[in-house]
Amino acid sequence: MDITTCQNWDEELAALERQGLKRCLRDVTGAQGRKIILDGKEVLNFCSNNYLGLADDPRLRRAAVECIEQEGIGSGASRLVCGNMTALRELEETIARFKGAESCLTFSTGYMANVGIISSVFGRDDIIFSDRLNHASIIDGIILSQARFKRYPHNDMEALEKMLRAATGFRRRGIITDSVFSMDGDIASLDKIVELARQYDCLVMIDEAHALGVMGKNGKGLAEHLGVEDKIDIQMGTLSKAAGSFGAYCCGSKALIDFLINKARSFIYTTAMPPAVAAAAQRAVEIIRDEPTLRQKLWMNTEYFKKGVDQMGFNTLKSQTPIIPIVVGESSVAVEFSRRLLEEGIFVSAIRPPTVPAGTARLRLTVMATHTREDLEYTLEKLRVIGKDLNFV
Ligand SMILES: *Cc1c(COP(=O)(O)O)cnc(C)c1O
Repeated sequence: MDITTCQNWDEELAALERQGLKRCLRDVTGAQGRKIILDGKEVLNFCSNNYLGLADDPRLRRAAVECIEQEGIGSGASRLVCGNMTALRELEETIARFKGAESCLTFSTGYMANVGIISSVFGRDDIIFSDRLNHASIIDGIILSQARFKRYPHNDMEALEKMLRAATGFRRRGIITDSVFSMDGDIASLDKIVELARQYDCLVMIDEAHALGVMGKNGKGLAEHLGVEDKIDIQMGTLSKAAGSFGAYCCGSKALIDFLINKARSFIYTTAMPPAVAAAAQRAVEIIRDEPTLRQKLWMNTEYFKKGVDQMGFNTLKSQTPIIPIVVGESSVAVEFSRRLLEEGIFVSAIRPPTVPAGTARLRLTVMATHTREDLEYTLEKLRVIGKDLNFV
């Protein structure tokens, strides 16, 4: 085969560059906090999912270090082979108790959880209804499952019902949705979804990645916030965002969890999470459970900041969470906006297609509990000045 056509990486990269879609990595030194050292320069961090500031919390560090001293680094093998270490079992028990679930299984990442859960629960004879804005890992799980894949327009419950009514003759039917949408910051209509699921005999699976520690009176997620916890069959979430650590969980019935242990390939055919990571995540779940003040601070900051952004007239879609998008349209404009903010010492990523639909490139700002009032005021002022220069406000 001709080496130039089979290895034309440069051409494809150049095409991305022309469309303003080329991505590159930037160096962060030191810890993930409200400020980070980016390419050697200290900047305010407005793009992390570390909502509660737990990623560099001394209590998580200590939990990890103590566990390393006891249990070492690696877990040796898949959990089914010889890697089911104490720290992992304890993490699962803590999560299950916190969430009020019968049982819990952890996965190494949220991506792996979604791929493993969806591709084992659903198969060729099944049908899945999925919100158009669901996370890429959900979509990959659906594709891998080989189930019929029906995407409904974002949060459009009438369209979903129409699809449900038309879908007959399948073995298993499922509705899958992000609970907080990661790029829009709005929330799923879970109350309506569980109602439809009951009416049309569907399983409901939610992805609480951006909701654990953020939503609900006790930080258990959107299902708690909307009072539908006992009506969700599969509650997946991650430990990598508000919990400031790494990994993911699935809560559900004991039978479901036993099924996943036997069938989910991203659980079976991978080395277990390092025990120290589990120990840190467990500490994070305990902090989320025991310290509502962190969450209250996050929401105070969110309300203050969101109000400021909205007053300037930016398009923040229907954001109702600490994820605040500013939609600018063209990718090149989003990149320019982000670059100008960085010049002022504020780090905000430009989010472009294919992560978001074409023509809706945006800045995605995330508020943290640990941002100070000065951080928020300074950033609002720079958004106003640069937004004006770029003709948005
Ligand atoms: C981040 C995210 C994931 C993936 O979780 P990781 O632990 O980072 O792999 C899955 N679903 C949603 C909605 C997410 O935002």
